[in-house]
Amino acid sequence: MRAWNFTAGPCTLPLEVMEKAQKEFLDYAGMGAGVIEISHRSPQFDAIAKGSEKLLRQLMSIPDNYKVIFLQSGGRGEFAAVPLNLMPEGGVADYFVTGHWSRCAYKECDERFGRAVLHECAVKDENGIVHIDYSRMQVSEGASYAYICFNETVNGIEFDRIPDTGRVPLVADMSSDILTRPVDVSKFGAIIFGVQKNVAPAGMVVAIVREDLIGHARKYCPSILDWKVMSEHDSLYNTPCVFSWYMANLVFEWIKNLGGVEELERRNIEKSQLLYKYIDSSTMYRNTIAPDSRSRVNVVFNLRDEALNKEFLDGAAKHNMLGLKGHKVLGGMRASLYNAMTLDGVKALVAYMDEFAKAHA
Ligand SMILES: *Cc1c(COP(=O)(O)O)cnc(C)c1O
Repeated sequence: MRAWNFTAGPCTLPLEVMEKAQKEFLDYAGMGAGVIEISHRSPQFDAIAKGSEKLLRQLMSIPDNYKVIFLQSGGRGEFAAVPLNLMPEGGVADYFVTGHWSRCAYKECDERFGRAVLHECAVKDENGIVHIDYSRMQVSEGASYAYICFNETVNGIEFDRIPDTGRVPLVADMSSDILTRPVDVSKFGAIIFGVQKNVAPAGMVVAIVREDLIGHARKYCPSILDWKVMSEHDSLYNTPCVFSWYMANLVFEWIKNLGGVEELERRNIEKSQLLYKYIDSSTMYRNTIAPDSRSRVNVVFNLRDEALNKEFLDGAAKHNMLGLKGHKVLGGMRASLYNAMTLDGVKALVAYMDEFAKAHA
């Protein structure tokens, strides 16, 4: 029996996609071999590579002057690739930090590659409520780019609008909310996302980069992090993570068939509102993020009495629920409601939370 899987990443994938992959696992496209057993230079794999790019372009309405690059560096590898590709030696970039992952990206740049200016943009008010402060997002003189993490997976904080950085290209890490809502790609210089939160099993990261920003990498930038080298080779410079790419293609098809990103946004609003509304109405649970800065995909919450955490998690396991423990840097609880999580799953969670609250009233 499949669990209700609220794990933050790697995480739940659509059942239909898992079943299709299972069916094709031993014999892909009548080849008598699985997709992980064939050459990445075969026409069968080439169809997956080209088809997936085409689908992603459709789903996100990616303008023609943007390259889509499939890489293996992981999210953290791209934290290095961003300055290596966009910032010249001795340059400067602005980091609008709103939580764990934007802070990691800031550190990677600042400690290794150049001057990163830290702007603390998640602000706590006198009642302890956190909100994103867009007025703090000022760019520095001569900045090569400004950097944000669109959805902070650990902290449960998400942008509800795109900050205006004028002529300075905006770079966004969308690892955890890619394809959960429509975004205007043309407002960004680059968008990066690891696939393991909404798209596929771990192993791949995608960079969507405006063409004029490609080709300026530092001399010593490793080839596999150089967006120009990778895009010139159609992301097949080295052996890609074929399974992850194949699964991403299946997920893109799944999204297209269910009505696209607009439909997913509708579902994600419905799912997250159900949970937030319950949390706000209860005396047992608490979320301290302002409504307009709350994540639709990672809902963090604390029990009023933290001594009950273990009992809460043990009870959840008995109710066939996985992955509700918060990230180690934050503690508490976190329910990740990615695209593959159904409304029924969220209803089951709310029912369990209510049962637990009543038992401890
Ligand atoms: C998970 C995550 C990362 C880290 O990705 P890795 O592939 O593990 O390096 C980076 N950014 C965000 C927003 C994430 O959710």
